[in-house]
Amino acid sequence: MTALEYDKAFIWHPYASLKDPPPVRLAKSASGVEIELADGRRLVDAVSSWWCVAHGHNHPAIVEAVQRQSERLCHVMFGGFTHEKAVELAERLAKIAPAGLDKVFFADSGSISVEVACKMAVQYQAALGRPERNRIVALKGGYHGDTSLCMAISDPDGMHTLFKGVMTRQFFAEKPKSPFGGEWDPSDTESLARVLEEHEGEIAAVVCEPVFQAANAMNFYNPRYLAEMRALCDAHGALLVFDEIAAGFFRTGPLWAHERSGIAPDIMTVGKALTGGHMTLAAALASEKVAETISSGRPSAFMHGPTYMANPLACAAACASLELFEKSDYRANVARIESAFKAGLEPLKALPNVRDVRVLGAAAVVEVERMPAMSDIERVIDRHNVWLRPFCNFVYAMPPLVSDAKTVARITAALADLALSKPGPAAQDGDFHE
Ligand code: PMP
Repeated sequence: MTALEYDKAFIWHPYASLKDPPPVRLAKSASGVEIELADGRRLVDAVSSWWCVAHGHNHPAIVEAVQRQSERLCHVMFGGFTHEKAVELAERLAKIAPAGLDKVFFADSGSISVEVACKMAVQYQAALGRPERNRIVALKGGYHGDTSLCMAISDPDGMHTLFKGVMTRQFFAEKPKSPFGGEWDPSDTESLARVLEEHEGEIAAVVCEPVFQAANAMNFYNPRYLAEMRALCDAHGALLVFDEIAAGFFRTGPLWAHERSGIAPDIMTVGKALTGGHMTLAAALASEKVAETISSGRPSAFMHGPTYMANPLACAAACASLELFEKSDYRANVARIESAFKAGLEPLKALPNVRDVRVLGAAAVVEVERMPAMSDIERVIDRHNVWLRPFCNFVYAMPPLVSDAKTVARITAALADLALSKPGPAAQDGDFHE
């Protein structure tokens, strides 16, 4: 059996069937914006391997940091121990986080950091003598991960409906409608206000992806929504949690997507580009108020502790990644990518199968009426040697933030080719997502 044959028969891929799986490619190596396949072809990674490879693949500074760390300490339990790279990373994060969010809990994936943030909110309310405030309010159209609480606060009509039975019931406000850069509609937060009023005594926190609802909606919305949300949370005694896992680290322009709102959350989650896409690591960053309240409650300990918490190799990768973010002007890179995408993709609006084109920072979305068939998507990828992973009605690109003009032009051409391809069957099996 070849590697690909074995893979096809025995290995589950994300959002895929084992019976008739979508094709996979055998990756051999990667550097910069490209992934090299076993047959020698090189594909531009237009989705940054699910939006995490911010500085490009196998960045020498990150590889070297991990190699150096691996010679000294690959892992040590974080209960009862700490290590230099965890301390350095916490200090680095505190320096760039919104003011006051300097209490760091390291987690092993984005989903876990969201679970941790929600648990912090519940434990915070319990410490205040309000244990019945144990529900979360989230936004329709949101996505926060695939673990059970994350599923329960992701779009209730989205990809997780099959698992409703195991999820705890949470509350939802309508998806924000006021577009980014467009007119603010004051009725946009009415639904959130209603939920908070009706259920105030049950609500621990409001959680959202600030400005950019990514994996479930590809929706760029007005930052004013977040300022209103902050005021509503304060009025109703709920904590505010921003999930910056997808939108953070310059993806939408500024370092944090919520910066444009002028307010700060009580807890923020970061992941994906934290290590520049080299190792899995995430974190929940909490304010002094949250940490102090939890630590004064019963129990005073925050009740979470994964085996690989603050893994030294991952922390070393993250320190090197944050140093790269610090050293060069990522805001300028992203502004350049944004203008190129806008210029190149705007004309696609006129195509019959195109519903909308949206670009914010280094994220470009072509919303189509009907997705082309999988075989046509494959053909476009092979013709351009550009790796794309469209889902639902979204043909999109979120390339490494170091992509040059030529790379962005190649990606734009591939997106255009997909938008021009014949629309596929009305509804496809949900075997690919995000
Ligand atoms: N939150 C957001 C906003 C995300 O986009 C994702 C992943 N796409 C997650 C959480 C979950 O992160 P992970 O896949 O690392 O668990």
